[in-house]
Amino acid sequence: MEPVSIENKQNRFMQELVSPGDRLLMEAIREFVNREIMPIRREMEASTRGDFGLVEEVQQKLVDLGMQGSFLPPEYGGWNLTSALTTSLVAEEFGRGEPSCFAAIGSGTWALRPAVIAGNKAVLDEFAPRFKGDEPYIACFAMTEPSGGCNIENLDMKGKGIQTRAELDGDEWVINGAKVWPTNSGISDLYLVVCNTDPELGDDGIAMIYVPVPTPGFTFGRFEDKVGFRCSREGDFSFDNVRVPKEWRAAGPGEDAVLLHDNLIFARLFSAGWSIGIAQGAFDEVLAFTSERSVAGKPIRQHTVASGILADIAIGIQVGRDAYVNAAYMFDHPETYGPRTSKQMLSRSSLAKVFCADTAVMVTNKAMELMGSYGYAADYNVEKYWRDNKIIQIWEGGGQLGRLDVARGCYDYDQFHENELYERMQEM
Ligand SMILES: Cc1cc2nc3c(=O)[nH]c(=O)nc-3n(C[C@H](O)[C@H](O)[C@H](O)COP(=O)(O)OP(=O)(O)OC[C@H]3O[C@@H](n4cnc5c(N)ncnc54)[C@H](O)[C@@H]3O)c2cc1C
Repeated sequence: MEPVSIENKQNRFMQELVSPGDRLLMEAIREFVNREIMPIRREMEASTRGDFGLVEEVQQKLVDLGMQGSFLPPEYGGWNLTSALTTSLVAEEFGRGEPSCFAAIGSGTWALRPAVIAGNKAVLDEFAPRFKGDEPYIACFAMTEPSGGCNIENLDMKGKGIQTRAELDGDEWVINGAKVWPTNSGISDLYLVVCNTDPELGDDGIAMIYVPVPTPGFTFGRFEDKVGFRCSREGDFSFDNVRVPKEWRAAGPGEDAVLLHDNLIFARLFSAGWSIGIAQGAFDEVLAFTSERSVAGKPIRQHTVASGILADIAIGIQVGRDAYVNAAYMFDHPETYGPRTSKQMLSRSSLAKVFCADTAVMVTNKAMELMGSYGYAADYNVEKYWRDNKIIQIWEGGGQLGRLDVARGCYDYDQFHENELYERMQEM
């Protein structure tokens, strides 16, 4: 019996929302993933216990494909690929293949986006050409700190969760503090560091500053050992009186806070796409397996109990895809749907991210069940999809802050009321 997937290129999403250029790009990425990543993904993941040679070979091929620096404006040699929809669709394609090897490229977009949106000529003149070389030039968006990630993302905290300090000394920023977990830690050439100039200033104190490697006082700790997402590297690093030119701040007081929130909303959208790609990959595996293997005299998927589970999987994937495609389209069209950093937009992107990540957890879990012990075996990839997706559910505020942010778009939700907790927060 032929394995049949309901995933059809023509009916995956409303064609009107996705430009012909984006569809061509997705086809090219899909073809690249099928050819260069799918055949070696398990070997590539296993090799990260030793070195990252195979991962780096794939990254080099992505550079050769022209993906590096694709987010830059045309005058800097890029394709202006800062659209949330395009990035999310690309993330879905990588999610289906090997989610974590996309991180090296994806984080570059995430880190440079604020400078591109702000039109920061000093940063772009200095660093953009390096993204257009023939070799990987890797960037990192460094926000999470030892004291927590969600407190930095939480709008109500107004920057109070950021303990990395930046002080202006003449024409230079002096940075002190520490970061943990950013993707591409320790292997990046350029870091966008989320800092605070003065916690009393609220959002005006939030400063995002570019720091290249090497810079005196900027030192790295160790790489983390993780359950999944093994083809990307995360670790910790610290800043001890690190000095960079003052022009390397993304924009300025108030503007950096908006750019930070814009980046976080953008990231939730492409995380949603990533998760749907993972869920689709697991669905393809379980559809094929349950068509081949029989129990009680017929293929597993011809049993009513299994078809109900497969239908739930299909429902989750398609509803999730519709949610992220629609939300990303809205984000890309502020002229129609309002400011990209509005509470409504935060709510829509968080809704998509929470739903898609939870769906992929459900899908990989159920696919594994339907495949019996083979679902648990490395050869069938579902266990890898399961491990890789879990972090998408956890990062960018996790399901908890994500849900608070969904509520913000529905009513005047405010986490901190004028009570004892609020007083304590003011003293932090
Ligand atoms: C593979 C990987 C890649 C990563 N990449 C990056 C990166 O590129 N850049 C970067 O800066 N960071 C990155 N991170 C870090 C990640 O984004 C954070 O770890 C994550 O946002 C959660 O922060 P935390 O671990 O400090 O948890 P905490 O902030 O301590 O949260 C702990 C728990 O509390 C819940 N919670 C949080 N706030 C509230 C609230 N207000 N009310 C109720 N519950 C709440 C959370 O949902 C969570 O369940 C990465 C992490 C991993 C593992």
